[in-house]
Amino acid sequence: RKRNGKNGTRLFDDEIVDIARKRLEIEQCIEQALREDWLDAHLQPIIDLRSGRVSGFEALLRLRHPQKGLLVPEDIIVVAEENGSIGKVGDVIFEKSVRYLADLSKIDGFSDSYLAVNFSPLQFDAALPSRLASLLLQYGVKPSRIVVEITEAVLMLDNPAVRQVMDALGALGCRIALDDFGTGYSSLSYLNSFPVDIVKVDQSFVRALGTSAPEVARKSRTLIEGICMIAHQMGCTVVAEGVETEHQLQVLNEIGIDFGQGYHFSAPLPVASLIERLRGPAWD
Ligand code: C2E
Ligand code: CA
Ligand code: CA
Ligand code: CA
Repeated sequence: RKRNGKNGTRLFDDEIVDIARKRLEIEQCIEQALREDWLDAHLQPIIDLRSGRVSGFEALLRLRHPQKGLLVPEDIIVVAEENGSIGKVGDVIFEKSVRYLADLSKIDGFSDSYLAVNFSPLQFDAALPSRLASLLLQYGVKPSRIVVEITEAVLMLDNPAVRQVMDALGALGCRIALDDFGTGYSSLSYLNSFPVDIVKVDQSFVRALGTSAPEVARKSRTLIEGICMIAHQMGCTVVAEGVETEHQLQVLNEIGIDFGQGYHFSAPLPVASLIERLRGPAWD
């Protein structure tokens, strides 16, 4: 906040310096992470709500810093998008998570499970489909087991290349999920004009199902019902994100949501812990 007088101005400058310093710190952290292999993908199970079984996994970027511990993605992604390292970061995450999927496939009952990976608009270039295809070939994973998660930000690019990339991914056999559905400006129109296979209901709607205010809970239920009905009519399957409670799960089941994901089932896990859990009795 800029105030009058010398001190106020200095305060303003200090804030900018702080932001710039933090940004630089993250930037150096990303560079070092790429060099020293600190980047990893944690995997969160996605559950088929009809059978209760794990049907797939979402890969979520984590940075394991030797001093600062585990860093979550949001700051990292923003800086990586700004300084152009997102392509490299994304390639590392994709390669690691495809390798993990190949490992998970060896567990009884998981040979067909799928992998959902998040892509930033800046990764959505014409060369993406062939890069993905050759990695999948290398690890012996069928493209039909890959879900490419994008947000409206990708479709908003308003770039003919985006549609070509989506078509190419579709031709390869990958599916496309529209993430954070319902939070953008024109989710519904994108559903109409792009080849989307999966709709991910944003976790803010799911969270509101459990609020103590009955009016809010009822309205968010109505919203989810509407999204679910429209998505189904358009031939999409529906995933609810951020399922944290038994109550939310029950309502989502009543609505007829196909898949669920959230702390109620499992947090995103390092692959070793995930394999241990999947081999154990909890997921049958
Ligand atoms: P997203 O794709 O919407 O991912 C879901 C986020 O919700 C993840 O946060 C996940 O850890 C968190 N989550 C899962 N279950 C629950 C729950 O029950 N309750 C709550 N409150 N949260 C839950 P995370 O891992 O911090 O990722 C944040 C965002 O960063 C992601 O949102 C995605 O937009 C982006 N991101 C993550 N990994 C990548 C990546 O490899 N590439 C790109 N481009 N973006 C990524
Ligand atoms: Ca996602
Ligand atoms: Ca989301
Ligand atoms: Ca998000």
